[in-house]
Amino acid sequence: MPHTHHLLIVDRDPVDAQAVLTSLRRLGPFHVEWVTTLNAAVVRLGNGGIGAVALNHFLSETQTKDELDALSAAAPHVPILVICAVREEALAIRAVGFGAHDYLLDDRADASLLARALGNIVVQRALEQALFVERERASVALDAIGDGVLGMDTSGHVTYLNVVAEAMTGWCREDAQGRPIADVFTVIDGITREAAKNPMEVAIEHDRTVRAAGNCILVRRDGFESAVETSAAPIHNQLAQLVGAVVVLHDTGAPKAVLQQIAHLAQHDFLTSLPNRMLLNDRLAQAIARARRHSSRICVLFLDVDRFKHVNDSLGHMVGDRVLQVVGERLTACVRSSDTVSRLGGDEFVVVLPDLEHADDHTIAVTRILSALSTPYVIGNHVVHAPASIGASRYPEDGLDADTLIKHADIAMYAAKDGGRGRCQFFTHDMNLRAAEHEFIEGSLRPALERGEFALQYQPKVRLDNGAITGVEALIRWWHPERGPIAPSQFVPVAEECGLILPIGNWVLRQACLQARAWADAGLAPVSVAVNVSALEFKSKEFLDGVRMIIEETRVEPNWIELELTETALMQDAHAAAGTLRALKDIGIQLAVDDFGTGYSSLSYLQKFPVDALKVDRTFVHEISGHPHDSTIVSAVIALGKTMKKRVIAEGVESKAQLDFLITHGCHEGQGFYFHRPMVSEHVAMLIDSRMPRSRTDQPSAGLDALDGALPAHVLPATRTKRPAALIQN
Ligand code: C2E
Ligand code: CA
Ligand code: CA
Repeated sequence: MPHTHHLLIVDRDPVDAQAVLTSLRRLGPFHVEWVTTLNAAVVRLGNGGIGAVALNHFLSETQTKDELDALSAAAPHVPILVICAVREEALAIRAVGFGAHDYLLDDRADASLLARALGNIVVQRALEQALFVERERASVALDAIGDGVLGMDTSGHVTYLNVVAEAMTGWCREDAQGRPIADVFTVIDGITREAAKNPMEVAIEHDRTVRAAGNCILVRRDGFESAVETSAAPIHNQLAQLVGAVVVLHDTGAPKAVLQQIAHLAQHDFLTSLPNRMLLNDRLAQAIARARRHSSRICVLFLDVDRFKHVNDSLGHMVGDRVLQVVGERLTACVRSSDTVSRLGGDEFVVVLPDLEHADDHTIAVTRILSALSTPYVIGNHVVHAPASIGASRYPEDGLDADTLIKHADIAMYAAKDGGRGRCQFFTHDMNLRAAEHEFIEGSLRPALERGEFALQYQPKVRLDNGAITGVEALIRWWHPERGPIAPSQFVPVAEECGLILPIGNWVLRQACLQARAWADAGLAPVSVAVNVSALEFKSKEFLDGVRMIIEETRVEPNWIELELTETALMQDAHAAAGTLRALKDIGIQLAVDDFGTGYSSLSYLQKFPVDALKVDRTFVHEISGHPHDSTIVSAVIALGKTMKKRVIAEGVESKAQLDFLITHGCHEGQGFYFHRPMVSEHVAMLIDSRMPRSRTDQPSAGLDALDGALPAHVLPATRTKRPAALIQN
């Protein structure tokens, strides 16, 4: 619907006026009125509704200013257009000087021309006026709202700031306009305090509105910070081209609230909302101060959810997270409101029971907690059994400060786990020794790797029917410069815990391959070398590539290498394990299940795994005592292996009786002190060399004893058994 323009013509000549009037009406939406005198015009203007005045041939040399003033006074904002003859132009210019808005020259020849010109001017004025009003309205509105508004163009320069934005940024509009946006507008992340991305840049980049309600902090020119919510939108011109963006900054009015929120986050665990380590330390320190004043006691409980890793791995993080939340809720329900339940991270919780009067005041809480946590968790359609092991320490007996109490409860928790999980164990001072040893080993492992303190020994495996060597197992040895030998059973679990088993395992495999290559290069018959792979290595993403690379680098035949994986490692994620095993088989590597019989294998899985051999754990072999009924397990395990059509290797063979039993039950291979102890590589070479046909005349028995004697003391097992000559002579 076009806008109607109300025009008032002041003209003494009715013919002229009529002509213009008719033409204008024909031109478009003009409502034209006509008066003949200035006085009449003033009266009409006073009644309102007129958009423009055309003063047609009405100028007089003497009166112009007064005339214009009279009209302006009647309608201050209505534009006055002067129409005059060419000869009157000087007068018209003067009129503009006195306040007329414009003039038109008219030669009186064509009324329609004049009308069109007049119409154009009136329309244009009206548009300008509308635009001005619009802008003014926008500007007033922008200045009136409580939010800051800031604009920039696509080249990253400031185009606009409203009054609030001036106050928020500390920049006045004039100074800011045209500056790089980064000078004027700085936002940071409230929690990390790192520079946040300018939302207007994001809006331009993605050409859409972006909102951030998070912890955004606007930094004023003088460094003052305020928490803001931002909403940025791109701006387009009439051709739909992107020309810039505006951001609306809403001061959440609460730097304090944000700070409080940040403080809460800093002191509480995100997942469970329980106090975190920082707040725990605080509370415990306060409790200690109170206990000192009142001679009261404190009990600190360190909890670890048993098998939590398993829950997480098998049921996913969502279920795992929920279990942790429920653990938090159950713990909180078990204790007094003055007690502190906190989560340290992972599946570790600490409970502080302060202000206890008697030595056993904690027992009720501990019993309640143990029973609460042994109840299965029903999460979605899963029923999760994940009881917790608890370590406990007491103030003042077990420590006088927060750190010591927590550390000692932690140590006791490990003892609780060792003692069979799902129970509570109190700290005793001898636990400290074990913990110190653990710490020592953990701290010495990396330097050991760097300084080359590790070495490999090789223990032969033999065929039971004729004693022929079928291969060797590489076993790692550590000779610490001050402490001397440290057994793998002492440091391998620590290396697994701290992840260092990955580089160590890598080193072992490379070393074993290099050795196999060296033996081959020395002209020895190919020796199969078995390498132990820990669960962590086997699971690691880099494992397969690492194996491939080492095999390639050392130029060994893949079938010289046998990897020994424990049953437990394979069963942690049987599906993934099957894939990895297949890939290893594709390379051509031999595979053995180590410590067979000790894990909780799913036989159906085990049967599907493409493994070549099963190593019967030595604890079963040691049960062979000569009494047939003592040995049912080992015969069953051997039978199982044979049913699965795998090579069966008995570990830890130490006696003739064991050997006989194994032969009777059809076990294929054996490994143990009865045949050979682990030995250095040179001795392996000599042993194998001595078995080759050309050295048949040698006396291997005597020779081997001599070799064993040459080994460093730490390499030798404590008890030595005599090997039967028949086996050695092959
Ligand atoms: P394992 O894989 O079961 O290795 C066999 C262990 O039994 C070796 O202990 C070996 O010396 C010992 N042994 C051999 N014959 C007899 C015997 O007749 N009687 C008895 N009582 N023991 C015998 P070692 O070298 O102390 O290694 C212990 C464990 O440490 C290994 O058990 C293996 O789990 C781990 N380990 C050793 N070397 C490595 C390695 O390079 N990488 C990884 N991941 N683990 C290793
Ligand atoms: Ca092994
Ligand atoms: Ca084993």
